[in-house]
Amino acid sequence: MSIKIDRDSCIGCLKCKSVCPGSLIYQDDQGKAYIKYENDCWGCTACVKECPNGSIKYYLGADIGGNGSYLYVSKNRDKLKWHLVNGDNVETTIITNRKESNRY
Ligand code: SF4
Ligand code: SF4
Repeated sequence: MSIKIDRDSCIGCLKCKSVCPGSLIYQDDQGKAYIKYENDCWGCTACVKECPNGSIKYYLGADIGGNGSYLYVSKNRDKLKWHLVNGDNVETTIITNRKESNRY
């Protein structure tokens, strides 16, 4: 499991960097975010949820998807939309309440 940051849509706000508990995200000399230690990412999804642009894809491991499947998040004031894209590029969206998104 790891994330991938889309350089083209990244606006360099560094919100992802500020929430990564492992300090794995850095900024390149063009102001874009990148993950420096991919293998150390433990998939907490904090950066995915925080990105205002949906620029971070979270790739699913073989046990919960694999085959190139991933998720990304878009949001408005109250809701988080989790877009799950499977290996055939079919997308399923799950909507959660932002205020409850960290509940287990
Ligand atoms: S998923 Fe979590 S651990 Fe991995 S880069 Fe994002 S914030 Fe850091
Ligand atoms: S939160 Fe998203 S837009 Fe902001 S720096 Fe990170 S990847 Fe780029």
